[in-house]
Amino acid sequence: MGITVGIDLGTTYSAVATFNKTTGTTTILKNSFGSDTTPSVVCLENGKVIIGAEAKEMQGMGNEGTASFYKSLMGNANYSIILDGKECNSEDLSAYFLRELVKDIEQTNQVKIDGAVITVPAYFNDAQRAATLRAGEKAGLKVLKIINEPTAAIISYGLTGGADKKVMVYDLGGGTFDVTVAKVSGASVQVLGTDGDHQLGGKDWDMVLKNYLIDCFSDEFGVTISDYPDADNELQVEAENIKKKLTQMPKVTATVTCQGYVGHYEVTREWFDEETSPVLGKTQFLVSQCLRDIGEATDCSGIDEIVLVGGSTRMPQVREMILREYGKKPVTGVDVDTVVARGAAIQAALCTEKTITMSLGGPQAPGASGGTARPKFSLCADSIQDVTAHSLGMLSVSEDKSRYVNTIILPKNERVPSVMQRPFKIPSRRNGDGEIEVYILQGESVTPSDNYILGKYIIDDIDPQSEKETVVDISYAYNENGMVEVSAVQRKTGKKLRVTKTAVPEDMSWIDETPKMQEVKVQSTIYIVVDASGSMSGSMGQVEKAARSFLEGIDLTCSKIGVVSFNNYTNIVTYPTNNQREISDAIRQVTSKANGGTEEPFSTLDSNFGPLDERNYIVVLTDGEWFHPDAAIIAADRLKAKGIEIVAIGIAEANEAFLRKIASSSEAALKTDLNNVQSSFSSIAQAITEGKENISLG
Ligand code: ADP
Ligand code: MG
Repeated sequence: MGITVGIDLGTTYSAVATFNKTTGTTTILKNSFGSDTTPSVVCLENGKVIIGAEAKEMQGMGNEGTASFYKSLMGNANYSIILDGKECNSEDLSAYFLRELVKDIEQTNQVKIDGAVITVPAYFNDAQRAATLRAGEKAGLKVLKIINEPTAAIISYGLTGGADKKVMVYDLGGGTFDVTVAKVSGASVQVLGTDGDHQLGGKDWDMVLKNYLIDCFSDEFGVTISDYPDADNELQVEAENIKKKLTQMPKVTATVTCQGYVGHYEVTREWFDEETSPVLGKTQFLVSQCLRDIGEATDCSGIDEIVLVGGSTRMPQVREMILREYGKKPVTGVDVDTVVARGAAIQAALCTEKTITMSLGGPQAPGASGGTARPKFSLCADSIQDVTAHSLGMLSVSEDKSRYVNTIILPKNERVPSVMQRPFKIPSRRNGDGEIEVYILQGESVTPSDNYILGKYIIDDIDPQSEKETVVDISYAYNENGMVEVSAVQRKTGKKLRVTKTAVPEDMSWIDETPKMQEVKVQSTIYIVVDASGSMSGSMGQVEKAARSFLEGIDLTCSKIGVVSFNNYTNIVTYPTNNQREISDAIRQVTSKANGGTEEPFSTLDSNFGPLDERNYIVVLTDGEWFHPDAAIIAADRLKAKGIEIVAIGIAEANEAFLRKIASSSEAALKTDLNNVQSSFSSIAQAITEGKENISLG
């Protein structure tokens, strides 16, 4: 019977591990050179495929049939190279590499590999994940799952069955950087957030050295090495060697040869650290960004352990920076080269067994196994919870209709796997041949072309509707592998619509231009106005949940939401925006304030509402009496006279008669219980999305 393995398919080095169910530990499967890791280099020559150290050596000697660093171009439809007369893209190269790697591992270790979990940088988007999956299949592997590298590292290193802790993984490899924060509790891992850059890695450090040596050589001999491909290749290899030596020694002499000249140049670690501080700084920036996004202090004070992963974290400057900036010594005893493959191996075992028993001391420190009994704990498949690294957005027209924008519908760091539903409005068509095209994007930028376009989705079979607009509820399912699947239902009829994903048209230049066909979507502005007096303090958790449900029920491609809190003064936490993150942050920021009582918020809103949209709403939530009810009613009347619909929800001590007076109609007022606030908010969002101008809570 065969085994399952975990494969860390790295940009520069790859590793394969397996989990032993009897011992509860992982083992690295060595290659035919006796190494734990294999260079991710492919060489095609005379119909033969050569990989690993041999291919790397051939590359160093300037063999033109070799390819490396193809992982950084994974999923890129525009990239391909010709090797041995064959056109290959990154997926093909990965497939060649994987096929040979597996063959080599099988022969060397006398095993048969039945299935594999392959790791990808957390930052990989949908296309990159899909390409990795296909590469594995083309290589003849049964791909059990695609998982994120940092998550694999946490599974392997972080799980101890012990007390709760927050762990940060700082993964600096050859061509990618990822930072991930996870909560590890007992035998479960919950990833909280992730960030990264797949164009940042050890190669950038090599480049600093290489460029310096090119300059030195040119100054001494007047020869530009980059003009000579063979010498340039050799220098590339030399630069990486020098870098690695600087990890051990404070000073190294580099030897550079070209056109018969030989130059010797001394480089010190101090100089190297100084020159590479900008690239190291980029990783610090991403760490801060990741922490900020999940509401953690950026000085890492809320993080219990920092784990280093990836070959480049061997550089002393990385450890020094972590200690200096975050006041923490990185965890030791983790094998930076194999920890990812080991985690993938554990995940692979979980794909075939419901639960497995892990033994401590084995996975991360093979040498530390000892003979004494080690603590054991069991792990099951659903104890690992990951998140998405990118926001999911939709191409829409900016409010002033002057340009296309990316409207984020699901912010990053959503749990995976999961299904989420969001409404999308379309102008109704009388003739009924209802078909819409939506472009779905991954990324954080408002500018559509800065993001990755997942695809053009055609939603058709939409029934004609008499209303001005049709609401389609779109579901976005993130599957096990972190890939997106889209489905849609017409809200009015409950009919499941046909969704076809088509390739992104080659010419997408129009997304940077002014929209020609102006979409006639009705725009709305909504203020959520929350009583934040002292009496609300025990209710804020529920209120936050309710506000979030509200946000999820609104189509942000044509609506803006503002958030306001009021007690003895009115605070506009955020002005109306369709930026998910801003709205979300604002909702989180609403906190109650003791004493001071409650002043009406309407006058402040009246002078701050801004230009009125086609539809305007205020949804107010309160739990008691206000200071000047009569003045509040007059101020509310002024807003209503402008056509703004006011919905009033009261809980606890709120006075029902008063709610009716401030609301636009008695149907738009509701006295309820704290437990019902969330469902009331959802139904208000639903009514707004369906275009109801008069809200009825009956
Ligand atoms: P990836 O996962 O991207 O393939 P790895 O985690 O295998 O990357 O790390 C490879 C990178 O680590 C390369 O840039 C390599 O030069 C660098 N590296 C390996 N060993 C050392 C060392 N001793 N000192 C500095 N850098 C190193
Ligand atoms: Mg790696």
